[in-house]
Amino acid sequence: MSSQAQSNKYQVKLKHRVTVAERTMAFQFEKPSGFTFRSGQYLELTLLNPSETDAEGNGRAFSIASAPHEDFLMVATRMRDTAFKRVLAQLPLGAEVQIEGPNGSLTLHNNPARTAVFIVGGIGVTPVRSILERAAHEHLPHQLLMLYLNRRPQDAAFLEELTGLQKQNSNFRFVPIMTATEAADNWSGEKGHLTAELLNKYRSQTNSPVYYLVGPPGMVNGVHELLNKVGVDDDDIRLEDFGGY
Ligand SMILES: Cc1cc2nc3c(=O)[nH]c(=O)nc-3n(C[C@H](O)[C@H](O)[C@H](O)COP(=O)(O)OP(=O)(O)OC[C@H]3O[C@@H](n4cnc5c(N)ncnc54)[C@H](O)[C@@H]3O)c2cc1C
Repeated sequence: MSSQAQSNKYQVKLKHRVTVAERTMAFQFEKPSGFTFRSGQYLELTLLNPSETDAEGNGRAFSIASAPHEDFLMVATRMRDTAFKRVLAQLPLGAEVQIEGPNGSLTLHNNPARTAVFIVGGIGVTPVRSILERAAHEHLPHQLLMLYLNRRPQDAAFLEELTGLQKQNSNFRFVPIMTATEAADNWSGEKGHLTAELLNKYRSQTNSPVYYLVGPPGMVNGVHELLNKVGVDDDDIRLEDFGGY
């Protein structure tokens, strides 16, 4: 059973863990009763009495990758060799962690006449998966375009699931882009870095777009500069960079 420690702190049990890309895992926790959130928000996950720790401490921020209608809370992360992630990787099913939240405001805009353009780098997929699953579940009328940048297909978390979502939601267009061209020789989709030309190819098919940039800080900054260069105003750009990458 979950227990609520304080107003927005909960202890939750790990229910399931699954590899979603190379060195990338998703962790599903029970969803405590009374925990509500909006797709795109994040939580703070703290390990309880971990066997090791480091200067960054026992907690990290993670976007909620599950959608509100799903009966679990999911986070997904690159499994780098830090004390926090070594402990998380070994956490037995049924073990408890503390979650605090939800926080953040990277949520889908209200006006369905405007296209949402998600430009996502790597593990930045997490809040966008939640938004897209919600949009499909609730049959939202918004046009949704996702440009998903990864080095290689095996690095792209939720690749199959997102490809499948296009069949469920005809308003959703999914464009995975592999940036390591040699490593993606057998990839028939878009390849290479995101250039103004590639961006404009897809941008030209959108209506009054709102851009959502999510991923590691270097990627988010680079895409932000590119959008400004092609004439997109900051009023139409929303950002979430995953500090720590
Ligand atoms: C709003 C928000 C949402 C986020 N959502 C997610 C999410 O959904 N999924 C997710 O994975 N992360 C997310 N993050 C980032 C997350 O909080 C961690 O910072 C991140 O996962 C890195 O944790 P770590 O334990 O691997 O490294 P840390 O121990 O936090 O890293 C500390 C420092 O060491 C460096 N470092 C550590 N290991 C390496 C390495 N192997 N190579 C190079 N440098 C290294 C880092 O660059 C960093 O400067 C989010 C952050 C924010 C602010």
